[in-house]
Amino acid sequence: MIRLAIQAKGRLNEESMELLQEAGLPVEASKRKLVARCGSFPLEILYLRDDDIPQAVSMGVADVGIVGLNEIVERGFKVDKIHKLEFGNCRLSLAVPKSEEYSGLEYFQGKRIATSYPNILARFFKKSGIKAEIHQIAGSVEIAPSVGLADAIFDIVSSGGTLISNGLKEVTTVMESQAVVIATPNLTEEKRELLDQLIVRFEAVERSKGMKYLLMNLPENKVNDVASILPGMRSPTILPLAQEGWCSVHVVVSEKDLWTRLAGLKAIGAEGILVFSLEKMMP
Ligand code: ATP
Ligand code: MG
Repeated sequence: MIRLAIQAKGRLNEESMELLQEAGLPVEASKRKLVARCGSFPLEILYLRDDDIPQAVSMGVADVGIVGLNEIVERGFKVDKIHKLEFGNCRLSLAVPKSEEYSGLEYFQGKRIATSYPNILARFFKKSGIKAEIHQIAGSVEIAPSVGLADAIFDIVSSGGTLISNGLKEVTTVMESQAVVIATPNLTEEKRELLDQLIVRFEAVERSKGMKYLLMNLPENKVNDVASILPGMRSPTILPLAQEGWCSVHVVVSEKDLWTRLAGLKAIGAEGILVFSLEKMMP
């Protein structure tokens, strides 16, 4: 049995639950229970506040956890970083009132900065030779300047919309963050093996994200042209068709440039193109 800590509610909860679901590890999304079992794998889920996940994993209360890199770095508990996930992307930035003239880090000399990440900020200021007053506040950091609690803030930014609506502008990014899988140091061999199996499943889900499976009919004499339209692809699967001179081509392509690829395939004479969603991809 391996125990995984995830955020009970908040920005990382939904995507963590979705990842487990897609990896064939359905768990009860229990609102009241602290612990839930997975029916199909020796996995137990511990629902915690994200602030508490690094410590819980470091102490072995949970064997593994899914949490933002920002929380891991801020808390400083000893954990092994195992795998970067493709959600929870954000950055930690310094922001000042929009009307301020900002010419560089010297601006912060002697200023009061509100943040929920005092350790990361203190380290950054120390490295940059800035002496400032760091005020730790737990939430709603972005309103601190407008109510006179601080001159500037250091906070999580993703789109930047919250800063703008609070009359602030982002001036320096201190760190980039994303959700990661962490593990307690010195996992037993049995748990290590279970963790490896979890990561294989997560990777299969990630690999299929943004990929499409294409199936089409193509004149046989155009098969060599497929390579120029789908550069970098592994060799496509080519099957003969009952109609002479034609074959069926199957390929996996990235969704990002799907429409350009489709146009190229049409141009070399592809017909009856079908586009399928992919669920999992194993190497
Ligand atoms: P908890 O109640 O668990 O302590 P919280 O309020 O501290 O939750 P959330 O706002 O749910 O935290 O954010 C959780 C994590 O999601 C952050 O620590 C960060 O890693 C990530 N995240 C990604 N984008 C954003 C964003 N735009 N704002 C805040 N957090 C973000
Ligand atoms: Mg929190």
